[in-house]
Amino acid sequence: MKILVINAGSSSLKYQLIDMEQEAVLAKGLCDRIGLDGTFKHEANGDKLEMEHPMPNHAEGIKMVLKHLTDEKWGVIKDVAEISAVGHRVVNGGEVFVEATLMDEEKVNTLESLTEFAPLHNPAAVTGLRACMEVMGKDVPQVTVYDTAFHYGMPKTAAIYPIPYEYYEKYGIRRFGAHGTSHGYVAGECAKLLGKDPKELKIVTCHLGNGSSITAVDSGRCVDTSMGFTPLAGVLMGTRCGDIDPAVAMYIMNKEGLTPDEMSNLMNKKSGVLGLSGVSNDFRDLDAAAAEGNERARLALDMFAYQVTKYVGSYAAAMGGVDAIVFTAGIGENNPAMRNAITKPLAFLGAEMDEEKNNTRGGARVVSTDASKVKICVIPTNEELAIARQTLDVISK
Ligand code: AMP
Repeated sequence: MKILVINAGSSSLKYQLIDMEQEAVLAKGLCDRIGLDGTFKHEANGDKLEMEHPMPNHAEGIKMVLKHLTDEKWGVIKDVAEISAVGHRVVNGGEVFVEATLMDEEKVNTLESLTEFAPLHNPAAVTGLRACMEVMGKDVPQVTVYDTAFHYGMPKTAAIYPIPYEYYEKYGIRRFGAHGTSHGYVAGECAKLLGKDPKELKIVTCHLGNGSSITAVDSGRCVDTSMGFTPLAGVLMGTRCGDIDPAVAMYIMNKEGLTPDEMSNLMNKKSGVLGLSGVSNDFRDLDAAAAEGNERARLALDMFAYQVTKYVGSYAAAMGGVDAIVFTAGIGENNPAMRNAITKPLAFLGAEMDEEKNNTRGGARVVSTDASKVKICVIPTNEELAIARQTLDVISK
C-alpha cells in the first residue's frame, strides 16, 4: 500500500510517496514558488531532478507531482490509482479536529474556518487539500493529520490559562502545543528502542530546531507541552522569545508605540537567540561566534541549554519521575555539546551522559551510560512517516 504525504505551505508543497509495507520512501520532492515563477524538485530511483516550471496554483503543483510519480523515467508507480490515500499535514485542528480525520468537502470548509489558529499554515493546508480533491477525484481518501492532535488530551490543569474562563469558552484560548506529530513519533520510537511498552514509560521529548518544544509523555500520552496557544511559547528559539513576562510586551508597545502586529513580529521574528546574540538564528553560527569569544552568542547558547534543562526538570516533577529524555530535530539530533549542556545538571535525577556515545553519529540510539538510571536517547524525527502511519490507521478503520 502506498501513501502520498503532502505538506503544503502558502507557496510551496512538499511531498513523499511512502510504501507502507517497508515504510520506505519511494519518491520525494518539492514544488516551490507556486504562484510565482515555480521550481520543481523530484527525487526517485537514486536520481534527482530540478527544473523551473510555472505553477500558477497548488492544483498545478499536484498535477506536476502526479505526472512525475507516474513518469517513465522519474516515476515509481504505473498509475495514480496505486496511491491508496493522501495524508495532509495540518498545523492546528483547534478543538474541532482532535485526531487524524478522513475529509470531505464539508469538513474542508470547517477546517477553513479555523485559520485564525494558524494563520500562516492552515490556509495552505486547505489549499493543498482542495487541490488534491480536484485533481485526484473523490475515490482517493484525503486524510488530515494534526500537529496539535498528540497534545489535545493533556489535562486541563496543563491546558487552560489563568485568565477569565469566558475567553476559553468564547474563543477557545488554551494551550494547543505544536510539533505533536514529531513528539508522538519519537516517544513511540523511544519505547521500541528501549524494548518497553510505552505504557510503562515516563518520557520527556525535546524537539530542538529553529522552533523548539519540550513535551512530557506519560504512558504514551502527552500530559504537558511547552508551546501554547501559539508556537511562540516555551523555551527561547531561533527567532522567537518563548516565555516572557506578558507585561514586557505591553511595556515595549507603550514605549516604542508599536501596534499588536508589530509587537508580534518583534517577538516571533526578531527575538530568541537571534535577538540576544545579534549574530544569527542558526546554532552553528552561534557556536562559531562563541568560540571566537562573542559573549552574547555564548549567553544565547547558555540560556537555551538552561531553559531546556528547566523544562525537563519540571516535567520530571510533573510526572513524578522520568525514564528517558529524547532529543530530536536539527539541534537535538546534531549538536552533542548542546545535549551535554542540557543533561549535565540533570545528574541529580540519575541522567548520566556517555561522552563517547554522545559524540558519535547515527540513527536512533541511546547516548547515556549503561548505568544511567534515566536513558538519554537521540531519535531522528520522521514526521512524514508518522503522518503516513496515521493516514493508514484512518483508512483501515
Ligand atoms: P530544524 O528547524 O529542525 O531544521 O533545525 C535547525 C537548527 O538545527 C539550526 O539552528 C542548525 O544550527 C541546527 N542543525 C541542523 N543541522 C545541523 C548539523 N548537521 N550540525 C549542527 N547543527 C545542525
